[in-house]
Amino acid sequence: MPTIDAQGSDEGQHDCARGKHCAARKTVLADDGKYVTVPGPTYRAFCDLDTTKIRNCLLDLPRRFVELGAHIGDKATLDGPRVSGGGKFAPPIPINTGVEAFQQQIEEVVTSWEERVRDAANLTDISGNRRAGMAVKVACQVLAGHVQALIALPADSMYRTCDISRAEHIPDEAVGYIHDGDWIGYNLDLGGVEAGTEILNLHHRCMARLGMTPQHHDLRTACWECEVPRLRRWDGTVGLADSVECRNCGAEYLGDRLARLMVEEETLVRNRQAQRAS
Ligand SMILES: [Zn+2]
Ligand SMILES: [Zn+2]
Repeated sequence: MPTIDAQGSDEGQHDCARGKHCAARKTVLADDGKYVTVPGPTYRAFCDLDTTKIRNCLLDLPRRFVELGAHIGDKATLDGPRVSGGGKFAPPIPINTGVEAFQQQIEEVVTSWEERVRDAANLTDISGNRRAGMAVKVACQVLAGHVQALIALPADSMYRTCDISRAEHIPDEAVGYIHDGDWIGYNLDLGGVEAGTEILNLHHRCMARLGMTPQHHDLRTACWECEVPRLRRWDGTVGLADSVECRNCGAEYLGDRLARLMVEEETLVRNRQAQRAS
């Protein structure tokens, strides 16, 4: 019979791998009067909220991949930034540098995880050539449908490539470097935690490439904990957690507390507008 500890049933749980970015995180008051962020507890690699977020990123990625593709080759079209007085013979603007390389990286990452999930979940192998867009779509569908199997994968050696300009992102544990022009290839032991993290990062980089960077917003309301007006709302539209953080004492506002804070902020803004108008 399994032992049940006095605290309840949280035995065997550990922190969600998203750490301070965990969507289920809580802030608790520490002994020194500062607030510390505690990630959500989970029996798996990621808490349920972050697992859902990973699945949503996988469902959204194929569409973003296509949108990225639409940016290739539109160097001098109306979509790109205009250069005043550029005229007919203006040199092309290199706004697409690296888009194709980034697409290749997306394909490489999602298809390599697809392969591992197919192995782990005994799915039939799809071999043969697939167009990049189709390969990404199929891989993301398979991964979204088996996201629990994905984040439960044990660490195993996988091959990754990296643009030389991003070489500082290569972890120290990487082995077997291959240099090929601007590229570095290497092997690394990767498992479920890295799978989830890679998917979230790829999606975030996609959105940034497509110009959808988060907009942060500073609130007028003073922090409920320290009474200093240094609250900032982090935009949740681009895969970031939607939350308000006090940049003075570190208190965080999530869920219900966030909703109540935003009501207070709206009331405050409305009252000030009314005062100005009278
Ligand atoms: Zn989490
Ligand atoms: Zn505060």
